Amino acid sequence: MAKSIILRGGTVVNPLKTREFSGDIRISGGKIEAIDSGIAVKAGEQVIDVTGKLVMPGLVDMHVHVADVPDSRRMLVKAGVTTALDVAGKPDDIFRGAIEAGAGLNLAYLYPLVPGDTIKTSAPSRQELSDAIDFALNSGAVGVKILGGHYPLTGEATRLAIELSHERRCWITVHAGTVETPGDIRGFEELVSLAGKLPVHIAHINSYCRGLQDNPFNEAKRAFDGLLSVPACRSESYLALINGTSGRTENGLPVSKVTRRCLIQGGYSDDAQGLMEALADGWAKVNHYDQSRREVVLAEPADGLKLYRAGGGKLTISFAVNSPLAAISLALSKKDDGEYAVNALATDGGRVPRNVTLQQGLCLVKYGAMTLPELSQKASMNPARLLGLHNKGILAENADADVIVVDRESAMVEQVISGGRIIFQNGEICSEDASFVTLEEGRKSIFERGFNLQCTAPEWLGR
Ligand SMILES: [Zn+2]
Repeated sequence: MAKSIILRGGTVVNPLKTREFSGDIRISGGKIEAIDSGIAVKAGEQVIDVTGKLVMPGLVDMHVHVADVPDSRRMLVKAGVTTALDVAGKPDDIFRGAIEAGAGLNLAYLYPLVPGDTIKTSAPSRQELSDAIDFALNSGAVGVKILGGHYPLTGEATRLAIELSHERRCWITVHAGTVETPGDIRGFEELVSLAGKLPVHIAHINSYCRGLQDNPFNEAKRAFDGLLSVPACRSESYLALINGTSGRTENGLPVSKVTRRCLIQGGYSDDAQGLMEALADGWAKVNHYDQSRREVVLAEPADGLKLYRAGGGKLTISFAVNSPLAAISLALSKKDDGEYAVNALATDGGRVPRNVTLQQGLCLVKYGAMTLPELSQKASMNPARLLGLHNKGILAENADADVIVVDRESAMVEQVISGGRIIFQNGEICSEDASFVTLEEGRKSIFERGFNLQCTAPEWLGR
């Protein structure tokens, strides 16, 4: 059992309150035991002076990718994330990563439905989809993911997957876009009609508002209106300006349509030559895994071209194509009932180095666009509730002790505590543990692998 900890004199940010206050927190037995001013120290307690620092619930990031880069778990923890939803991971990759670099992160994951990989074609039968969903849940996933913008299914298969997920009361995340419709605001509007009255997690709303059809502000308004028409659906958006896409080229052309569009947007030709020029200029940035830092970084332009050539073009690259106008309006927009229209702030990060919810969110707080408790609602409490984790994402007596200490000015995370244990401090990850959040169907799979687990039953899915 970890010894009890007192965080002394911090600015306590509680999403359940309208204002932050200055005080202490005692953490004991994995739980928050007390929040008060002037908590008296008991013998043997560790006291951490956090005067002048923000003390917040750990972030709950409901859109990350950690499957193919195990160390992305470490990147998330360093960014203040204690619980995350990986939205496209195959079980073997997810479990391998948990063993190699658990980093103390608590993870739920979704199984991807990818034509030519986990399912045969973009028009799978009802039975094939049904079998894939059963496999996902029995493996420990909380549901499935459709990667519409990248590997689309037909509209009919997308609708079927939504229907079958609802029958099982499991999670389904859809990146908008089908075989028939591109993954921009038109794909989003198509998805809204495919979802109808059924629950869908509509991924990264801001990414459909990059100004490809209309100006980004109008697209954000269309997204807002679309969300109002599907009250059973949930959504998240992110604040990073960079995307993450494939740098692979074949026959002199980038394979990804997204990559080609980004090149044109930056004034380059949409071929391999244009990509190399964009890399040299820094418009395209290579996502480079830095072995010594154990994290993915954006390479400097001078290195980008070298890395690209050395990697044979098989790299993830980022372009700063997200619209701040859309990202900010979607982060802030509220419905008439005072609730946020987009439920959560996420990152679509993990392995893509854009785990910037705190940095960017604190800018919005500094500007006066949201309060600290509101930031905490969107980045911790709301996503925790969607995952059915009512003891997380809040700072309250008896809540799980998932707590972060943050320097307000620099937005740097100084300590991360998960389940009452310090998993990050002084710039170092200090945990190898991995734990999982799963549905009842996945209990056996996770348990047999020896991981810590918590079964959940998210209400919005009808559990
Ligand atoms: Zn994603």
